Amino acid sequence: MENILYLVIPCFNEEEVLPETALRLENKMHDLTIEKKIDEKSRVIFVNDGSKDRTWEIIKELHLKNKLFGGINLSINRGHQNALLAGLMTVKEYADMVISMDADLQDDINAIDGMIDKYAEGTDIVYGVRSSRARDTIFKKATAEGFYKAMNMMGANTVFNHADYRLMSKRALEGLSRYGEVNLFLRGIVPMIGYSTDVVYYERGERFAGESKYPLGKMMSFAIEGITSLSTKPIRMITAIGFFIFIVSIGMLIYSLIRHFTGATIVGWTTLMVSVWAIGGLILLSLGVVGEYIGKIYLETKARPRYIIEQFLNEED
Ligand code: UDP
Ligand code: MG
Repeated sequence: MENILYLVIPCFNEEEVLPETALRLENKMHDLTIEKKIDEKSRVIFVNDGSKDRTWEIIKELHLKNKLFGGINLSINRGHQNALLAGLMTVKEYADMVISMDADLQDDINAIDGMIDKYAEGTDIVYGVRSSRARDTIFKKATAEGFYKAMNMMGANTVFNHADYRLMSKRALEGLSRYGEVNLFLRGIVPMIGYSTDVVYYERGERFAGESKYPLGKMMSFAIEGITSLSTKPIRMITAIGFFIFIVSIGMLIYSLIRHFTGATIVGWTTLMVSVWAIGGLILLSLGVVGEYIGKIYLETKARPRYIIEQFLNEED
C-alpha cells in the first residue's frame, strides 16, 4: 500500500511561528518515515493566505532548502476555510492521506501518529479532538463553547471540540471536492461525506508566537456562516414563532371584542406600545434571518471562485 502523507497548513501573517513550525515538522516527518513507514514522497505544504508579512518569502526559502516543504500562494487573503480548501484540493492528487493543521503549533503534532494508525486500520476521516482547553483564555473557552452550542442548536452538527485538525483519505477528499458551494464550512461538511470516522484526542497548546487571527468578530461571523450554510432551522424557528404569535393574536382579538361589548374599553397605551415594539422587533429579526439566506443564494448563484492560486511549489520525486 502506498503511504504518501501530505500536511496542509494555512498561514496568514505567520512569519513569527513558521520557522519553528517547519523545524518541528521536519523532525516529525523524519520520525514518521521510520516509525510509521510513510512514503519518501510525503510533503508539508504551507498555504499562504495573502499574508502581508514575510510568510511567503519564508515558505519559498524552506522549499529551496528542503523539498519536503512546498507552498501554495493564494492571490489574496480568502480566510482560513478557503485557504485550507485550496490546499486540500491541490494536494489530493499527490497524496494518499492528508492532514490539515494550524501553523501556530496549537495542534499537537504528536497526534499525527495516532491519526496514521487509524488510517492504516482503514479509517477514512480521523478528527483531532482537544481533550481540554486548559491553556485557552477563559474568554476564548466561553465563546468557543457558546459557538458549538449555538451551532448544534441551530441544526449545524459538528464534532465537539474539533477544529480543522484532521486526517482525510484520498477518497474522502474526492467526496469533499464534489461539494461545490461557495460558502463551504468544512467542519460541518466533512461529517456529511460519510465513510468510516474516528477521533484522536490531543492537548491543545498555546499559540507558539504571534497573536490569534480569529478575533471575536471573525468568530461570530464564522458561526453565522456555519449555521446558515448548513441548516435552514432558523427559518423554521421563525415560522414557529410567527405561528405562535398568530394564535396569541386570535386570543387578543376575542379578549378585545369582549372588552368592547362589555363597555370596558380604556385607551390601552401600554398594550399598544408593548405590542408595537414586540411585533416590530420580531419582524426585523425575521427579515434579518431571511436576508441571511437570500444573501447566501445571491452569493451561491454567482458561483465565484473560492480561491485563486498564484503559484504552487511542490517537488515530486
Ligand atoms: N488563517 C488563515 N487565514 C486567515 C486567518 C487565519 O489562513 O484569514 C490561519 C492561521 O495562519 C492559522 C489558522 O488559520 O494557521 C488558525 O488561525 P489562528 O491560530 O489565528 O486561530 P485561533 O487558533 O486563535 O482560533
Ligand atoms: Mg491558533
